[in-house]
Amino acid sequence: MEHTWLEIDLSALRYNLRQIKRGLNGKAGILAVVKDNAYGHGIIRISQALVEEKIDYLGISDVSEGRELRAVGINSPILNLGLISQKEEVEEVVNLNISQTVCTKRISCLLDKEAKKRNKRIKVHLKIDTGMGRLGAFVSEATELTEHICKLKNMELEGIFTHFPDAADKKFTLSQIKGFNAFLQKLTKQGINFTYQHSANSLAFLGLSKSWFNLIRSGLILYGVYPQASLRKKIELKPVLSWKTKVAYIKDIPKGWSVGYGRTYTAQRKERIAILPVGYGDGYFYRLSNKGRILIKGKFFPVVGSVCMDTVMVRIDKDIKIGDEVVIIGRQKAQQIKVEELAKLSQTIPYEVVCRLSQLPHRFIDKLNKL
Ligand SMILES: *Cc1c(COP(=O)(O)O)cnc(C)c1O
Repeated sequence: MEHTWLEIDLSALRYNLRQIKRGLNGKAGILAVVKDNAYGHGIIRISQALVEEKIDYLGISDVSEGRELRAVGINSPILNLGLISQKEEVEEVVNLNISQTVCTKRISCLLDKEAKKRNKRIKVHLKIDTGMGRLGAFVSEATELTEHICKLKNMELEGIFTHFPDAADKKFTLSQIKGFNAFLQKLTKQGINFTYQHSANSLAFLGLSKSWFNLIRSGLILYGVYPQASLRKKIELKPVLSWKTKVAYIKDIPKGWSVGYGRTYTAQRKERIAILPVGYGDGYFYRLSNKGRILIKGKFFPVVGSVCMDTVMVRIDKDIKIGDEVVIIGRQKAQQIKVEELAKLSQTIPYEVVCRLSQLPHRFIDKLNKL
């Protein structure tokens, strides 16, 4: 019996994808980012649903994710956004027909050699660092690298891209786009063209249409989570993930009795406390101690005391029974707890909230297309 689980609403995912497509209005394709177990949502079922919706590309950050996707028969184009460095990874990328991000001569040569050995052509996307300070070649070194890649016989330079560290800063992002564009124009003059040019993540897609080029790389918004609260006005999305548990134990404590480690909460009167079988070990952040709230029977109840490794205590009222369903993230009757709320209270980003839940059991729901 599972004491806590995630419910993944695939029809909400489909809805979000359609909303993004509507926003793009045919001006660019979509690379759906499914790295990190689809942001904790479950990479296989999420990717299968996206493929059914005719996504252009899937984006991963580790070769093992590509292996999982190919193993269940997903034949769509997959781009590994992460770097590879080991010989085994080079072999596997070529073997699995995964497109690879490159920004060095060394990996380009290794990939080309491996592809030649297998009589294949490997697709690569060249990553340019226009201000992220992470993966990517600087524009100053990229011309030589591009020319080098073009000479490799078993390599197809299918794409070129860059990444934004802070798409909310439009001035900085526009300067990145300008640098990227200037480089693209230079290459065009040399007769070097790409099937895909891309730069936009979720935030840039919503904030700056200049960033779209002909492909956007969309992660967070696919899952119905907003990278910034102000973006709710721009696109209506449905949360894909809910997190649930059940009331495991109930007790009445007298006035003055303390609850949990560190005795950070003391009952002001006789109070009823429910114990929930989730904790920071499951991804319920310690920072939610005495701050978080959960839903039972459509009502909010506060977390009291410190969050433990595998229990959380909440103050409840008389109607609540052992076994009642508890919503930690998601909707119950008219009320809702959003990923964004937990992120804010935990002083982290929504991305971390969902990624931390990756190991919990997933239950998939698909109201539109029963798989
Ligand atoms: C994770 C990632 C994305 C997706 O970002 P979101 O903010 O989730 O849309 C896009 N591009 C790259 C290179 C990434 O690593």
